[in-house]
Amino acid sequence: MSPQLSITILGCYAAAPGTFKNPTSQVLGIRNHMFLIDCGEGTQVSLRLNKVKFSRIKHIFISHLHGDHFFGLMGVITTFSLLKRTAPLTIYGPKGIKEIILLQLKLSQGFTSYPLHFKELESKSPEVIYEDEVVTVTTIPLKHRVYANGYFFQEKEGDRKLDINKALNLNIDNAYFNKIKQGGDITLEDGTVIDNKDITFDPLPPKSYAYCSDTAYKPEIATQIQGATALYHEATFLESHEHLCKPTGHSTAKQAAQIALDAKVGNLILGHYSTRYRNLELFKEEARTIFEIVHLADDGTVFTF
Ligand SMILES: [Zn+2]
Ligand SMILES: [Zn+2]
Repeated sequence: MSPQLSITILGCYAAAPGTFKNPTSQVLGIRNHMFLIDCGEGTQVSLRLNKVKFSRIKHIFISHLHGDHFFGLMGVITTFSLLKRTAPLTIYGPKGIKEIILLQLKLSQGFTSYPLHFKELESKSPEVIYEDEVVTVTTIPLKHRVYANGYFFQEKEGDRKLDINKALNLNIDNAYFNKIKQGGDITLEDGTVIDNKDITFDPLPPKSYAYCSDTAYKPEIATQIQGATALYHEATFLESHEHLCKPTGHSTAKQAAQIALDAKVGNLILGHYSTRYRNLELFKEEARTIFEIVHLADDGTVFTF
């Protein structure tokens, strides 16, 4: 059975790209849905390397307009056109993103082969920006040098699971299976009413993923994302460089762990490391002094929950 939640890290380093250090981008899978979050330089190459089908990306969420989070967007948009994509693509990001992209399109080829939509964000409080039958996406206002949002992806409760053996033993016609999965009781031909709970299992509990990069330590994040299955929180610095957090609008590994602890999340994923550090294990060690379940993002890593 495929996992409900998967996160493929395409890039997780701060600032300029290196040979094996890509700037921020990741792919989130929730059941059959796929979302691209941030789109640093080189994202389309990383998508290829990680065998992510371009056609499955219909929504791209950009946190803020620093280059290490969106310089790959123009490349992705253009390549989709070269591949003659026809399915619509929607970009979510700070106000101004539409102008940046449309100006480049205007001065080059002038159009895309598919409908390109923008949802520009300006609100400083959380707002629901996307919703369908599987998931709700809410902004997480961050504290950075420029206007920035994280994104909170919350899966909706799925259908009940049919106990197929019991259903067959009771000779229930498969025409009723959908009704049963949606919680309906069944009346047999002899008039016996079968309670839904007797022929179904509870659905798996819904999962959720909070993406927070880039941000200085902001306690309100923990309030908003209580109980999330996984939190990706930037950890640009170790505590030894905490004095750099305020001027740059970034966090330490310890501060990321404090958010994870206060939010009672299931898992903390660290990323957006400054390239000054050679040993990523130090981030994990520092975070684990505050919060137990810490994972280190690295390019090409896949997390499933
Ligand atoms: Zn950044
Ligand atoms: Zn930034």
